[in-house]
Amino acid sequence: MKYFGAHVSASGGVDNAPRNAFEIGATAFALFTKNQRQWAAPALSDEQIAAFREACDKYGFAPHQILPHDSYLINLGHPEPEGLEKSRASFIHEMERCERLGLDRLNFHPGSHLKKISEEESLKLVAESINIALDKTRGVTAVIENTAGQGSNLGYAFWHLAYIIDRVEDKSRVGVCLDTCHSFAAGYDLSTEEGCDEVFAEFEREVGFEYLRGMHLNDAMKPLGSRVDRHTPMGEGHLGITPFRYIARDSRFDDIPLILETPDESRWAEEIAMLKSFSEE
Ligand SMILES: [Zn+2]
Ligand SMILES: [Zn+2]
Repeated sequence: MKYFGAHVSASGGVDNAPRNAFEIGATAFALFTKNQRQWAAPALSDEQIAAFREACDKYGFAPHQILPHDSYLINLGHPEPEGLEKSRASFIHEMERCERLGLDRLNFHPGSHLKKISEEESLKLVAESINIALDKTRGVTAVIENTAGQGSNLGYAFWHLAYIIDRVEDKSRVGVCLDTCHSFAAGYDLSTEEGCDEVFAEFEREVGFEYLRGMHLNDAMKPLGSRVDRHTPMGEGHLGITPFRYIARDSRFDDIPLILETPDESRWAEEIAMLKSFSEE
């Protein structure tokens, strides 16, 4: 099955997200389980948990159709002890929230070396952070997202993802999420079918599709290799429609949440309908 959706709002409570997704014809969704720009959050109450689970049942969303995203403040490869500790504690909290909500994966950006340590040193810290979090939680997979490589952000090359996974002890609970815009901005040319063939073959060689736990479907505002993370609606950027049709028709992307983070929410229903029609071609 193909599951298409968008990163929907959970404002007013996490239990609003499933309905927001259902209303745009989505069969998958992403959400923040807390304010993504703040460190602290009140704990989820039993009532909130129950309401979320009920809403997921009512609107037909199982855990493998849902891709929660963690806070933007967390840096699991932080070069300094204080920042690293704070990030690790916050990440564990986010994993626990997912666990309580009955969710099975948490999507996060690997981190940044902040130009203070090497990429490898920072990637090792990320892997260690994941090991600590997996040790302290149950049932939730840590899903590393590839990035555009803006600034000192790690995760722009497939080898970064492989380097982290290699150092994670419990391989059954680590995965990756590929973002089409980030891939393109990082120099992976998904704008043509041949390009998609090559890039995904490289992904299979370096990381492996068995680790793919989700995708972010975004068109790219900036050209190939720009290292700039700017999304546009599907078909309006440098990627065009080709990679989205390719992904919709390729069984390697079955049974995982395929999530739009395109900027114009009013077009999500139309974008999802287009993706569904590609998958039925
Ligand atoms: Zn992300
Ligand atoms: Zn992005």
